[in-house]
Amino acid sequence: MDLAVVDLAVIGAGAAGCGLAAALRQRGWSGSLALLEIGRGPGGRTATRRSRHNAGFALNHGAPLFNITAAPEPHLLQALRSEGWITPFAGAICSLDAAGRMGAALPDPLTSGALWQGSPGMDGLCRGLLSLAQRTAPTPLLSGSLVRQLEPLAAGQGWRLQGNDGQALLECRWLVLSGTLLAHPRCQTAFGWADVPLQQAAAQRGEPQLLAAAAALAAIPSQASSNLLLSLSEASAAAWRQQPWRLLQFNAAAQERWGIRRVSLQAMAAGHWGLVVESSAAFAARHLQVYGSRSSAAQLLGAAPEPQAEAQVIESLDRQLRAALGLSTAGAERQLMRWGAAFPQAPGLPSTLSLCPDSRIGFCGDAIAGLGFGRVEGALRSAEALAERLLPLI
Ligand SMILES: Cc1cc2nc3c(=O)[nH]c(=O)nc-3n(C[C@H](O)[C@H](O)[C@H](O)COP(=O)(O)OP(=O)(O)OC[C@H]3O[C@@H](n4cnc5c(N)ncnc54)[C@H](O)[C@@H]3O)c2cc1C
Repeated sequence: MDLAVVDLAVIGAGAAGCGLAAALRQRGWSGSLALLEIGRGPGGRTATRRSRHNAGFALNHGAPLFNITAAPEPHLLQALRSEGWITPFAGAICSLDAAGRMGAALPDPLTSGALWQGSPGMDGLCRGLLSLAQRTAPTPLLSGSLVRQLEPLAAGQGWRLQGNDGQALLECRWLVLSGTLLAHPRCQTAFGWADVPLQQAAAQRGEPQLLAAAAALAAIPSQASSNLLLSLSEASAAAWRQQPWRLLQFNAAAQERWGIRRVSLQAMAAGHWGLVVESSAAFAARHLQVYGSRSSAAQLLGAAPEPQAEAQVIESLDRQLRAALGLSTAGAERQLMRWGAAFPQAPGLPSTLSLCPDSRIGFCGDAIAGLGFGRVEGALRSAEALAERLLPLI
């Protein structure tokens, strides 16, 4: 079979990748576009974890909400809102101190401004963006596709993308990376890769702007988050539901004491409830090597499961949660989701380097410097900005 050739390939179907596809289609661009995504579906760090065995299980295991802090808001939100893909986040937010006392919400860059959530789950955000894109022109999502190598074609004519076993996935005239995995040395420490694919490709191309972008992306540090997902039994859910909060922020001292940063209480289907316990950055840094073995990304990337270490991390977060709140989690189904790069740290990739026209490659995502950096807002804004810059070229 001939290798598929598309005008634009977007690696990653999180808020930025899906946002870019939607923004290009909204602006009338009808070229061929494919998104490649490691995960089972769209969402990235705004995904909703579902279960093949339990139709009622659906937990937002990354961001439980997102916020827009400045006007004008990203244009994409209007259509998402009017079609019901996003709704206002209406859950009460409280805080906890190191003595276990509940208080008012704390000032926090993640909860200032207008608060939104995907509907019915957080993945509604990316599903909605894809639906907007697909309405205008075919925009396939190739899920379960890990891009492992980026091969520049001769004379800057575009790119060939290779999968994990070296097989060619597709060729594209233009390429956009919406995540930093292929650009950052964490792929070497986490998965034992011998190279950083973007750096290798940049060295092959030898084009100065791409070399500068690859170096800047490789230098971005990130905070990790070890998230415990609890699907509550009916008996223990009753006490949790009586809590005055749906999102609980731990203040700095409470984070230090319990190793927890935030907890969200989420309604699932058929009257079931779940909790997502986000660890503190310090806790996640201490347990960086411990993956959630049920994560499709970890499986596809060949991360070796360590059941004992995983069980210890799960038990530790569960114990600290019970100690902090004095509530039971007995009978809950427990899973771990480890986000190795949950929050990029400033300054990020300068927006001037987010498009390298001579190499036909661009970058979007929350790691691009600018308003909303490190948050969904930044991912969406970077996607819209890149769409504007790409349109006259592609
Ligand atoms: C626990 C947690 C809580 C958070 N809370 C908040 C919050 O309250 N508010 C807020 O605004 N933000 C929050 N965030 C941050 C927010 O989720 C991100 O800023 C946003 O989702 C980033 O979107 P993105 O598209 O830039 O990146 P991502 O969502 O990471 O998307 C990149 C995608 O690319 C895919 N990918 C990467 N490499 C490859 C490859 N080689 N081949 C194929 N696919 C690839 C990944 O699988 C991923 O789906 C939180 C994040 C986490 C982890």
